Amino acid sequence: MVVVVKKNPDKEQFENLTNWLKSLGVTLHISEGESNMVLGLVGDTSSVDIDLIRSLAIVEDVKRIQEPYKNANRKFHPEDSVIKVADGVEFGGGTFNIIAGPCSVESEKQVIEIAERVKKAGATMLRGGAFKPRTSPYSFQGLGCSGIELLIKAKEATGLPIITEIMEFSQLPLFDEVDVIQVGARNMQNFELLKELGHTRKPILLKRGLANTIQELLMSAEYIMAGGNEKVILCERGIRTFETATRNTLDVSAVPVLKKHTHLPVVIDPSHACGYSNYVKPLALAATAIGCDGLMIEVHNDPQHALCDGAQSLTPDAFDDVAKACFALRPYSCRY
Ligand code: PEP
Ligand code: MN
Repeated sequence: MVVVVKKNPDKEQFENLTNWLKSLGVTLHISEGESNMVLGLVGDTSSVDIDLIRSLAIVEDVKRIQEPYKNANRKFHPEDSVIKVADGVEFGGGTFNIIAGPCSVESEKQVIEIAERVKKAGATMLRGGAFKPRTSPYSFQGLGCSGIELLIKAKEATGLPIITEIMEFSQLPLFDEVDVIQVGARNMQNFELLKELGHTRKPILLKRGLANTIQELLMSAEYIMAGGNEKVILCERGIRTFETATRNTLDVSAVPVLKKHTHLPVVIDPSHACGYSNYVKPLALAATAIGCDGLMIEVHNDPQHALCDGAQSLTPDAFDDVAKACFALRPYSCRY
């Protein structure tokens, strides 16, 4: 971190600043220029409040040279993390997985039928919401506990590992047989939940918030990792922009940016990004081509009657086509 101090600072204020910075455990390198003075802070500055320094009267400017996240930072972990979610299913390090399934688990027949179809098409994990974060309190809220039981039945029937969303930490005991816990976009900054998940050893798929920056996503991953759980998979699922033609705007550039800054695997969810089934294939192809480590795609056996997100759900036949196209692309996709 670099602190630019104004010309001829008040002596006492300057001493207060340097003593305070030293008390935070960083070493100071002071260089005096013509028009101002530059303090180079060396050491771990992740807990230094940059805005607090910036607010001081004698400070002209502050710049962070090092990112405020350590565990998720590729600088300290140059190799890609490879996260094993089940026997033979790993994310990261050049692997490519498709997670597929309904937005919500609705019935045993529905989820098993979909699981069998997506497995046949090459999906390596089954998704399905049991606890649903809906915009309206009057919309279907998910089957809850019995939804998870049905997912487990589908896992037993097909052998596919399962992923489902947790909404609050008290639900954790229900997730014993769930292979990957999903933290949804709306909970990306539920810091208490993230801290608690940091104490588990389950892989966590962390979705980017609707209006969150890439750095905020990485800071949320850091919350989980700081607790000791290194198994974090990031998911870009579209962000809010001024555009209304799609549900959200898929930020494909998040993939190379995340790949540069972090060693964690990155998955793209084209379904929630666009909101319409006819756009899922082009977005899935773009995501695959740009080098993500996997996709998460919503599939329903009867989208028209789906209890949630029918408009963006692919039929099993359409999913066959998308999966085939993406698997054909994958050997050519970027490696970082
Ligand atoms: C989901 O994947 O079911 C979901 C609710 O997605 P998001 O949190 O990205 O809106
Ligand atoms: Mn959905």
